[in-house]
Amino acid sequence: MLSNQLKKQFTSKLLDWHANENFRSLPWKEEKDPYKIWLSEVILQQTRAEQGLPYYLKFINQYPTVTDLANAKDNEIFKLWEGLGYYSRCRNLLATARIIKEQYKGIFPKNYEDILNLKGIGNYTAAAIASFAYNLPYAVVDGNVYRVLARYAGIDLPIDGNEGKKVIASLAQELLAANKAAAYNQAIMDFGASICKPKNPLCLECPFQRNCKAYSEDTVSILPIKSKKIKVKSRYFNYIVVETPTHYWIEKRTAADIWRDLHQTLLIETDKKINLQQLKKLLSGKNIFKKAYPLVLLQSKEQKLSHQLIISSIYNIKINNINESSLNTDNWVPKKEIFKYAFPKTLSEIFS
Ligand code: SF4
Repeated sequence: MLSNQLKKQFTSKLLDWHANENFRSLPWKEEKDPYKIWLSEVILQQTRAEQGLPYYLKFINQYPTVTDLANAKDNEIFKLWEGLGYYSRCRNLLATARIIKEQYKGIFPKNYEDILNLKGIGNYTAAAIASFAYNLPYAVVDGNVYRVLARYAGIDLPIDGNEGKKVIASLAQELLAANKAAAYNQAIMDFGASICKPKNPLCLECPFQRNCKAYSEDTVSILPIKSKKIKVKSRYFNYIVVETPTHYWIEKRTAADIWRDLHQTLLIETDKKINLQQLKKLLSGKNIFKKAYPLVLLQSKEQKLSHQLIISSIYNIKINNINESSLNTDNWVPKKEIFKYAFPKTLSEIFS
């Protein structure tokens, strides 16, 4: 492990680098409003900064305060979130905004434990809010921090195991410049994103090169270590876009599954890929329509999620001779209003 001298050196060199050489610019940097910090952190979980930025700006624009967000309708927020994925984040965002409005009178809590108790906020996000908004001495530990510290200190414990996580979290806390928590946390994350990058880190221009264990032991390309391989499950979704000249048939996903609370067309999930004839049979067995309408394959798509591969075939059924007055169920929505509903990416592309 690192000597006290090396620890001190690391912290002061990192702050120097931040003050003089950190040119990474992001719109939420230097932000002191805990609501905006929280929003940016939730949006950025499992999302690249370039992809998250337009979402962040849309949210800030439409809901400038946490109370504005709490007062929004669920469907408006899901619609705004559409395309970002990991919809449980969106559900937690709404739940937390409403807790802050009701329990904290719309004012973001100011101490770490209260922040950590909010829904969907883990150690990392709580430390980010506490340090960036209030300069409280809590070290953030995200993927960048794991990588920088595992390499610099030569930690070869898997970072997805409990021991590795514990060792790095405690080292991060020791290295934190307690009176400059906001600057330090920003510095280490930016350093990981721009210098000690996952691939092709810029070791030759790195201020830590002389004392970096991974550099001297030639283990930069293998650190940090991950032990678990994610098992990806394949699922086969047969979507059927059922439409009349004026309406689409849609439903809300309510089961505890991916994309809960989003909408979808008629869906038949199968355990393997099926063809048009097989789908016709399944549809007739379900007796969904009084008569058999022509079924046309529009396109096939694949979407990779963290643990699932969704293999979608999208079909179309056009019903032209239907009595419009029979369409007043919740499932039939006017075509001109389809943009109000949030769908998984594969379907939103069909309706856009
Ligand atoms: S020398 Fe290379 S591996 Fe070590 S901290 Fe610097 S950039 Fe990262």
